[in-house]
Amino acid sequence: MGMSPIINIVYEIDDIEAINSIVEAVKEVYGFEVFSEYNKINVEFAYNLSRKQYDALKILFNHRYPVSKNILTLLVIDKDIYVSPLNFCFGLAIDKIAIISTFRLISQDREIFLSRCKKEAIHEIGHMLGLSHCKNYTCVMFFSNSIADTDRKSYRMCDVCKSKIKKSLSK
Ligand SMILES: [Zn+2]
Ligand SMILES: [Zn+2]
Repeated sequence: MGMSPIINIVYEIDDIEAINSIVEAVKEVYGFEVFSEYNKINVEFAYNLSRKQYDALKILFNHRYPVSKNILTLLVIDKDIYVSPLNFCFGLAIDKIAIISTFRLISQDREIFLSRCKKEAIHEIGHMLGLSHCKNYTCVMFFSNSIADTDRKSYRMCDVCKSKIKKSLSK
């Protein structure tokens, strides 16, 4: 049995309740240890003036966070992010680093907002663990093309994705 990774959440949002629900959901779904810390996340260099958005790829390629086989880092910001050729993205993962933005998750309904935060965080962590997108629209690893996709899916994994995670962790 391989070692379980530690999830390191670095956030620059004032909504501690959102962070707490992400932390709890990650513990519940993956059973990993989770650390979270409020910190400035340098994204200004990734600002695209004409799009008025931040380039998520640039942010992830230029980060300075410690990542390894056993430490997966998730950045949480509230600025609008994109990855070409898409108009925007809810989040992005490259290898052992990922980012999500709460910018397009905002809802008048607090529960819906918190639920969206959990789903996007669990989804990107799934990518960091090697999962790709799932065809099951209720599975958290289903690709969200719109917020309706996010609202329709669960923050949990389907059985197929669960068994893939088990396999990859046992390596
Ligand atoms: Zn994805
Ligand atoms: Zn699945």
